Amino acid sequence: MSNNRFQALQSVLNRTIPEVKMPSAKISDFFGANVFDKKKMKEFLSTEAYQGIANSIEKGEPIPRDLAEQIASAMRSWAIGKGATHYTHWFQPLTGTTAEKHDSFFEPTADGGAIERFSGDALAQQEPDASSFPSGGIRNTFEARGYTAWDPSSPAFLMGRTLCIPTVFVSYTGEALDYKVPLLKALNALDKAAVEVCHYFDKSVEKVNASLGIEQEYFLVDIALFNARPDLYLTGRALFGHISAKNQQLEDHYFGSIPERALAFMQDMEIEALLLGIPLKTRHNEVAPSQFECAPIYEEINLAIDHNQLLMDLMDRVAKRHNLKVLLHEKPYAGINGSGKHNNWSMITNGGKNLLSPGKTPKNNLMFLTFFVNTIKAVYENADLLRASIASVNNDHRLGANEAPPAIISIFLGSQLSDVLDEIETSRISKKIKEENTLWQGIPKIPQILPDNTDRNRTSPFAFTGNKFELRAVGSSANSASPMTILNLIVADQLKKFKTDVDKLIKKGEKKDVALLMVIKKYIKESKNIRFEGNGYSDEWEKEAEARGLANIKTTPKALDVLVTEKTEELFTSTGVFTKREAHARHEILLESYYKKLQIEARVIGELANNVIIPAAINYQTKLVENVKGLKDLGLDKDTYQAQLDIIIKLSEHINFIKTNVEAMVLSRKEINKVDDIRQKAIDYDEKVKSYFQPIRYHVDKLEQLVDDSLWPLPKFRELLFFK
Ligand code: ADP
Ligand code: MG
Repeated sequence: MSNNRFQALQSVLNRTIPEVKMPSAKISDFFGANVFDKKKMKEFLSTEAYQGIANSIEKGEPIPRDLAEQIASAMRSWAIGKGATHYTHWFQPLTGTTAEKHDSFFEPTADGGAIERFSGDALAQQEPDASSFPSGGIRNTFEARGYTAWDPSSPAFLMGRTLCIPTVFVSYTGEALDYKVPLLKALNALDKAAVEVCHYFDKSVEKVNASLGIEQEYFLVDIALFNARPDLYLTGRALFGHISAKNQQLEDHYFGSIPERALAFMQDMEIEALLLGIPLKTRHNEVAPSQFECAPIYEEINLAIDHNQLLMDLMDRVAKRHNLKVLLHEKPYAGINGSGKHNNWSMITNGGKNLLSPGKTPKNNLMFLTFFVNTIKAVYENADLLRASIASVNNDHRLGANEAPPAIISIFLGSQLSDVLDEIETSRISKKIKEENTLWQGIPKIPQILPDNTDRNRTSPFAFTGNKFELRAVGSSANSASPMTILNLIVADQLKKFKTDVDKLIKKGEKKDVALLMVIKKYIKESKNIRFEGNGYSDEWEKEAEARGLANIKTTPKALDVLVTEKTEELFTSTGVFTKREAHARHEILLESYYKKLQIEARVIGELANNVIIPAAINYQTKLVENVKGLKDLGLDKDTYQAQLDIIIKLSEHINFIKTNVEAMVLSRKEINKVDDIRQKAIDYDEKVKSYFQPIRYHVDKLEQLVDDSLWPLPKFRELLFFK
């Protein structure tokens, strides 16, 4: 019987591409059709009810009970009208995926009949039996209850026959058990702090919201090949596999024409996404073979993150129809590029002004400079927290691996804006202002920057791109809420400090604009070390960053330390985003997830090595031995089978190395499993278990190159990456 690999390859040859039909020629005809958005609310609710909810959403206030009843009823009518039978609270527990528990609308009545019901209570709150979601010790079994509560700022949507209601997830004692609660708190903190600072320039600003556009990278692989690789389906990445003879060196895939199968998948996914109101706009090939990217138009940040979580889920569902599998892992294939999730972030007022967009007038520019420089300062002061917010076992393969942003957090501004900041830093501020414009003597004019003109530096983890910052270090499978909570909260905190600093100077008698400029100048000086315009992948940068005192923490367990320092505790509690207990709980959850993932990878490596790789090598070796025996029997001299003998010996060397090291790895794992301290355990897993992965892999990959191709059991990289 041919092995799994050849069966899989056979299936791939027989694939046909499903036809994808647009629901309508114009996207605007069906965009958001499966979302209970404002338009539908207007249609299904009384005017007062609509006003009431619009108001609550705007102000972030709780929705009165009687209103919830009306909304639930309207939602139910709309959903049932579209064929829904169930509803669920949709939430984002700390497992990293989304969770749902479906209930039917159906309810029996006293007279033996049945009605479809959906109450305001069922909309507002649920109590999923959630004791097995990670809580980091917050939820003991005796208080195992967790609550999901409706987040009206993210509209309900229809997935298949289920009405999904975006919710937050909290413990019985009120602590956050999800990604959304801290994000909403951080956004609230940012709103307050940014509005106050806006008032220096414009008293009419009432609200500041963060905006986010998420570029999502991913790989596609045929489902049969995927299923023939237990490492892929158990861990999301190929734990073995020699790099293909052709990989990405020709860079011919990047922005090339999209392969037909991938294109059909993308079109299908886009339609589903658009129906759900996810404004997908961009699609293209990425650098590595079989790697792609999609990006929506930016949205209000809470919604953008919900949409990205939904999109990841959707991609997986749609891929099935195409016999494909989406790999969202940060590094599915060693030796070629990994995947990230670029987070394009900015702050926008209720009047629609982008605070990170340079203005036309000097006054506008002072406002731009204020938010721009405060963001830089915030990242400078809290680079370690930002680093922690993107730390994961998967992302450790990217950060600092010479292809993704390094683990050193630095900021790229482009030469124009760097020059502007340098000039401000060295200019004297004229204090004798009569009219506004004279303030700007000696202060450089900020050129109008067209986003297209901004320098591109793909090696920077945090880059300014014209009217937004782009955090590029986020991993492709991550929930963006984690880094975005931190970014928004550190900027909020920084803006608060800025206001205090400026007010102090004003109190001392400085004119407002002078005070603003003085503080900006001071911040530019203080945060200078984090600005870097060069090649972030280079060794020189690593050295220079060290000299500048910038942190370069390469692995997750140590990167996470900052979550529980006193400085962080003060920051978290003063902004109201995390309590001490919540921060410690998250720290623990992240460490646990880190070592458990390594534990699984180690087991898969052991099993595959012992049960799949070594037997394949022995199988080939046995054939060679028979061959040598046969040649010997013919009376031929040793020269005729010398090559075979060499291979036989080489095979044994590799087999021995693999076997010995797998055994040693298992022993080491068993030792470490006894360690109680979770941080130490995670570090030990990194240093004493993960350290075996690469050497074992090296020898497995050598075997792959040595063993008869027809006997090799696992689909090879060339097949995973280039099979169309
Ligand atoms: P690239 O970085 O590949 O050149 P774009 O400039 O098109 O891509 O933008 C990438 C993402 O940034 C898109 O999702 C886009 O909507 C988003 N974006 C653009 N302007 C803003 C903004 N002011 N705030 C947040 N995201 C934005
Ligand atoms: Mg980009």
